[in-house]
Amino acid sequence: MADTAHAAPAAHTTHRTPELIFLEPVFHQKIWGGRMLESDFGYQIPDGPIGECWAISAHPAGDCKVAKGSYAGMYLSELWTQHRELFGNLSGEQFPLLVKILAADDDLSIQVHPDDVYAAEHEDGSLGKCECWYVLHAEPGATIVIGQNAHSREEFARAVDAGNWDELLNIIPVKTGDFFQIDPGCVHAIRGGTLILETQQSSDVTYRVYDYDRRQADGSLRELHLQQSLDVIDYNQQPPTNGTITAVEKNGVTRLIACDRYTVERVRVAATTDAATPTQLTAHWPFLCVSVIEGSGTVNGQVLARGDHFIVPAGIDVLSFVSTTESMELICSYPPAD
Ligand code: ZN
Repeated sequence: MADTAHAAPAAHTTHRTPELIFLEPVFHQKIWGGRMLESDFGYQIPDGPIGECWAISAHPAGDCKVAKGSYAGMYLSELWTQHRELFGNLSGEQFPLLVKILAADDDLSIQVHPDDVYAAEHEDGSLGKCECWYVLHAEPGATIVIGQNAHSREEFARAVDAGNWDELLNIIPVKTGDFFQIDPGCVHAIRGGTLILETQQSSDVTYRVYDYDRRQADGSLRELHLQQSLDVIDYNQQPPTNGTITAVEKNGVTRLIACDRYTVERVRVAATTDAATPTQLTAHWPFLCVSVIEGSGTVNGQVLARGDHFIVPAGIDVLSFVSTTESMELICSYPPAD
């Protein structure tokens, strides 16, 4: 006779089965934007020059809504506040990461971001901004600005005064599949002809050093922030010479960066995968942000297409990916545990 006193807990538990949280992107018009997010990714975007797709964001300047499932219609910021268990009960007032696609028809301003300490003091308690770029596409001959050649605040200020931008800036070639980490204090600019997946701290604090004297639709210039820039630029950094990924791919996974703000990995799911031999990831994160950047397929039986973005909440311990195209590629990111 069965010992009912020791039977497994009944299935009528009040806990929800954890589910993947798919998000609706928020699009932003930019002076350097265009229509690539529509022509390349098939997104339905507003009219005008659209430069940014905020794909996984709880930032007040672009808070994503949950697209489907139990939490459909809720903002990610609300989920973060009301259902912290989905995020491994991580501490912090703000959802820590922001994943964007940047579609640059024209050059972005030369800019620099502060670290957490400077931002907290000068930007009303905002987070600083550490960011990284995975290059989804670069036109032949495209270049990018990362780092600068001055060794002091005075030297940098003199070069800006003289307009010696070509000597001051570290301008390097960029190709599809490159990766760059941009620490706070690193002067940088994405240039025209590039499509980039950016993973960053959830911050919108940008100090513009130079904007090519270009005018907005209404004829005005965008604001520059030279003093703040001079404050936060790191004059001791070593600018990179290229963005070639040197990390080794293991079982389809390449760790692109692990810094104290985030870890970012590229996952390649080969066409040979099937339900019996999927590419598997085992949870080693509080929660995981995932963007499908190439191909299509399934995850744990759910259909995925290029341009989908979702969060894997705490409680889903294994992800099984199957590709239905030549290969499916994903960029995954997560914050450090507390
Ligand atoms: Zn930036």
